[in-house]
Amino acid sequence: MDDLYLTYAAYLQKKYGTKVYKLPVNLPVSCPHRDESPEGGGCIFCGVKGAAFENLANSLSVTEQIRTNMAFVRRKYKAQKFIAYFQTYTSTYLPVEKFKAFVEEACGQDIVSVAVSTRPDCIQEPYLDVLSALQAKYGVDIDIELGLQTTNEQTLQRLNRGHTLADFLDAARRVQQRGFTLCAHLILDLPWDTMEDVLNTARIVSGAEVDQVKLHSLYVVKGTALARMYQTGQVQLLTMEDYVARAVAFLGHLAPRIVIQRIIGRAPAEDTLIANWHTSWWKVRDLIEDTMRERGIIQGSLRAET
Ligand code: SF4
Repeated sequence: MDDLYLTYAAYLQKKYGTKVYKLPVNLPVSCPHRDESPEGGGCIFCGVKGAAFENLANSLSVTEQIRTNMAFVRRKYKAQKFIAYFQTYTSTYLPVEKFKAFVEEACGQDIVSVAVSTRPDCIQEPYLDVLSALQAKYGVDIDIELGLQTTNEQTLQRLNRGHTLADFLDAARRVQQRGFTLCAHLILDLPWDTMEDVLNTARIVSGAEVDQVKLHSLYVVKGTALARMYQTGQVQLLTMEDYVARAVAFLGHLAPRIVIQRIIGRAPAEDTLIANWHTSWWKVRDLIEDTMRERGIIQGSLRAET
C-alpha cells in the first residue's frame, strides 16, 4: 500500500515489474440495457458514447487502435507493457464469435492483460470460456470490470440499472471461479444514497472479495435522462465536500487488499453539464488524500476488524 491506500500504479508496478498502461479499445457494440430492456433507455446517466470519452473511432480496427495508442503512450509515459481495455458500452453484448475475434486481435506483443467492461447480468459462460481459452493461449491476464455503482437496491432502481445486487454477486462469483481479476465500478455521491449506503457498499465489496474498485462522482452527461432531471430540478447533486467525505469514509471501511483503480473519474466538459464540480480530478484526489492525512485514516483503518 502507498501511505494512504493501495494505488493501481503501485499494484501494476509490483505485479509486472514495470510501468503498465491501459490502452482503450472502442468496439462497435451497444448495450442490451439500452436496446432491449423492458425498462428502456438504459441507465439514467448513460450518454451516447457509453463511457468512450477518450477513445479512438470504432471504425478503426482493434490493431490500428492499439498500435496508435501504444505509440503515443510509449512516447509520453515510457510505458513498456500494456492492458487492452474494452471499455465502451457492454463488450459481452457482441455475438460470442465476434467478441472472440476482437479480443484475440488485441492479444500480442507487450499486451500483458485484457480488461473487459460489462454489466453484471451480461456475464455468460461462453464469453468466460473464450477469455479462459485466450488466457491459456496467449498467457495474458484477464480483468473483468463490472458496473455496480451502489449496493442499495432502491437506488439501483432509480438509476434504471436493470440489475440487482444479487446479479452482481452472482457474476462476481463466476468471474472469480475463473481466476480472473474483478473490478467494481462505484459512484459514491449518488443523491439517493446515504453515507450508510456508501459504508455498506464498502463492506459488501470487501466481503465479496473483489480485487479492485473504480470510484466516480456522478456526472451529468448531456442528453441523458439524468440531464433532464437535473435541468428540471428533480435531482439535486451532492457537493464536492460530500464526495470527499464519502470517499474518505469508503476507503476507511474498505479491505486493505483491494486496489483502488481510480479515486475519482473524469469526463470532458463538452460532453457534460457538470462533472466533478467543474474542478480538475486531481484537485479532488488531493482533497481526499489531505483529509485522510488530517484525520489519520488509511484504507481499512475504520473497519471493525482488518
Ligand atoms: S449498463 Fe453501461 S452501457 Fe448499458 S446503459 Fe448502463 S451505463 Fe450505459
